[in-house]
Amino acid sequence: MTGDPSASGADATSARPLREALVDLSAISHNVAALRRATGTGHLMAVVKARGYGHGAVPSARAAVDGGADWLGVVEIAEALELRAAGITVPVLAWLHGPEARFEEAIAEGIDIGVGSLAQLEAVAHSAGTASVHLKVDTGLGRGGVAEGDTARVLERAAELERRGLLRIRGLFSHLANAGEDADAAQVAVFDQAAAIADAVGLRDLIRHLAATAGALRAPSTRFDLVRVGIGIYGLSPFEHATSADLGLRPALELSAAIVSVKRVAAGTGVSYGHTYRTTAETTLALVPLGYAEGVPRQASGAGPVSINGVTYRVAGRIAMDQFVVDVGDAPVAVGDRAVLFGDPATGVPSADDWAREAGTINYEIVTRLGGRIEHRYRS
Ligand SMILES: *Cc1c(COP(=O)(O)O)cnc(C)c1O
Repeated sequence: MTGDPSASGADATSARPLREALVDLSAISHNVAALRRATGTGHLMAVVKARGYGHGAVPSARAAVDGGADWLGVVEIAEALELRAAGITVPVLAWLHGPEARFEEAIAEGIDIGVGSLAQLEAVAHSAGTASVHLKVDTGLGRGGVAEGDTARVLERAAELERRGLLRIRGLFSHLANAGEDADAAQVAVFDQAAAIADAVGLRDLIRHLAATAGALRAPSTRFDLVRVGIGIYGLSPFEHATSADLGLRPALELSAAIVSVKRVAAGTGVSYGHTYRTTAETTLALVPLGYAEGVPRQASGAGPVSINGVTYRVAGRIAMDQFVVDVGDAPVAVGDRAVLFGDPATGVPSADDWAREAGTINYEIVTRLGGRIEHRYRS
């Protein structure tokens, strides 16, 4: 039937976008509920930065709240404003700001502001309105946040600004380097110390948060009052040696495209730029309209797995900007059949982890980079 396009049902295929990221929102809700049970913290922040790791920020946020998330996390104030504009009212924290950041708009929309320096603290305090602030301390990641040596001074100043009614300090947070158990323990110790200083200078009832998905799942001492979970809510594993299924998570996104051409070619036919692949027998080549412009990593040329009609093949030759080729042998593949790059491996398709391995990267990058001409569809 798949060999006959008229019989395989043009309607069934034409109803789907040519290039589709199909997001199962019930999987996101399920994953949040599973993570909540696994971590047992009072609060769970679903991180929906970077267009919800490529899944779509607003639908992912709603699904996460349905699953029991009581906070949302983003990087930019603009991302937080997008959630508010969509009518999402739960607490939202935005934690990375440029020199021209729109703090006033964030305050007006009830967005909590992550602050990682004295200069930013002053800017937020002197913006119109009373900001709700989470102070970020660097406990050893060496990235953003107040340096250990400056923590006491910044916390004292924060307490003073709070007493003057210029802002409210609601949280204290940091981020883990995931550099091993000892490194985690060292960061927990520095964080505990910062929390003790906060208490001593009169900053009380702070929501303390340190762990992202990896810490939340594997290092109970890092959970504190709230965990900020990103990759896990999308059903992907932050660990190299644990799959989604191992963690009880369901990958939410399936990336596929309709095959746009098939043709029989002779043995010895060179395929795609540079002819890095050559057919070894008469065979059928199927063309998939996804390329690195859509975020399919060129590094996975000749290697990325693709499932067509229940059979998994490899990309043949180079992945180009807009397309790549699959050598399907003598399988009866037809124009309109779906080529699935990754999804939930429980359904028999490759995983984002498989693509990450072939591209020499991590699953985070595989899903986050999706873009170009892909259309998102949502299923609940
Ligand atoms: C992205 C991010 C997270 C979420 O990390 P995951 O590993 O995806 O769970 C948490 N906290 C901060 C500060 C982040 O930037």
